Amino acid sequence: MERKNAWKTYTECDLAKLEDISSRYRSYIDNGKTERECVTETIELAEKAGFVNLEDVIKAGRTVKEGDKLYSNCMGKAIMLFTIGKKPITDGINIVGSHIDSPRIDLKQNPLYEDSDLAYLDTHYYGGIKKYQWVTIPLAMHGVVAKKDGTVIDVVIGEDESDPVVGISDLLIHLSADQLGKKASVVIEGEELNVIVGGKPLADTEKDPVKANVMKILNEKYGIEEEDFLSAEIEVVPAGRSRDFGLDRSMIIGYGHDDRVCSFAAVEALLSIEGTPETTCCCVLADKEEVGSVGATGMQARYFENAVAEIIALMQPYSDIALRRALKNCRMLSCDVSAGYDPNFAGVFERKNSAYLGRGVCFNKYTGSRGKSGSNDANAEYIAKLRRIMDDSSVNFQTAELGKVDQGGGGTIAYICALYGMEVIDSGVAVLSMHAPWEIISKADLYEAVKAYLAFMLNA
Ligand code: MN
Ligand code: MN
Repeated sequence: MERKNAWKTYTECDLAKLEDISSRYRSYIDNGKTERECVTETIELAEKAGFVNLEDVIKAGRTVKEGDKLYSNCMGKAIMLFTIGKKPITDGINIVGSHIDSPRIDLKQNPLYEDSDLAYLDTHYYGGIKKYQWVTIPLAMHGVVAKKDGTVIDVVIGEDESDPVVGISDLLIHLSADQLGKKASVVIEGEELNVIVGGKPLADTEKDPVKANVMKILNEKYGIEEEDFLSAEIEVVPAGRSRDFGLDRSMIIGYGHDDRVCSFAAVEALLSIEGTPETTCCCVLADKEEVGSVGATGMQARYFENAVAEIIALMQPYSDIALRRALKNCRMLSCDVSAGYDPNFAGVFERKNSAYLGRGVCFNKYTGSRGKSGSNDANAEYIAKLRRIMDDSSVNFQTAELGKVDQGGGGTIAYICALYGMEVIDSGVAVLSMHAPWEIISKADLYEAVKAYLAFMLNA
């Protein structure tokens, strides 16, 4: 039952492909540090590969036929790609679903203030973070400011080598007697995640001159006023690029592997399909997974169902039963990262059922916690079919669950798509330090994920 280390199976040709995919993945996450940036990048890659906007097809009154390549953009924060296959769409779609939002620190709507001659931005963190990990590291600001006149300004500060960075201070060790006695969950508290953005007063200004100077800089660079923060979405994320990790360069350290590694692998696999596949294939890159898949861009919204309905209406006379059949007959990989086995913390894992870095793409029959609660428990028959597909395509895979029973747990988007009655299983890449500012994956697992998702889309 022991799974092979994927590295042992590679030829020179595999290693060259693995490095090529890894370097393109690194540029995808370096340029995609927010869900919006990931959508922009995905559209760029898709258009280069001949995909067209579904909205444009609808507006032009054109029809959709086999071989067509379409994308559908949901508010710039979630995106779906479809390659229409030869079989009727009512036979279902092979879906690879993942998410492009990652844990981070969001600015509050009224963020900017001055205290003790320093200017700060007040924040509310997003997703599950160990708050103590986010202090004393260089941070960057990414996002948009929407102005009353309808213009939307893109903001990226802290990524260019010549840019300044921002960050959050921690208490010096010399005065930490009380702090070090606290539980780790409250060593740094939510309201202490205040980002330092300035320390120089504006000349001839009485009230809050440091804050005024910061606002002047933002106004000169982006043309924004303080009140524009009310309609802004600025995400504070780790500054800097991903790096090869390990002396053997076998891994990648980067921000947001959860879940951009699966998202990139899915897009990479779909775009690599040559000709027209038998079955319609689809990637769904969802937003808001880290906060429960809620809101108009989270997987619980109906954008996937709506896009399928639009496509059906462009292919044949539309009917509700055709849509229901198309959705029920889908097969899906709900692709999200898995907890990589960490020997430093062996106590929370169960060795036989853990995901190991380098042993290939991981399948999780179920996730959830406390007696599988909240999990999508995939059908044995479906898993058998996937084992056959993976073995036939020489994909290195492993199976795992998220840690020891009753140690904690987690969820994904799987249960939401399962509501349509389709076959769904969780599948993804093992990560070390999940949800930390810098997470670690194995290049081998990324490579196997691309192979697995392609094999799935072509053969499921
Ligand atoms: Mn995830
Ligand atoms: Mn996560």
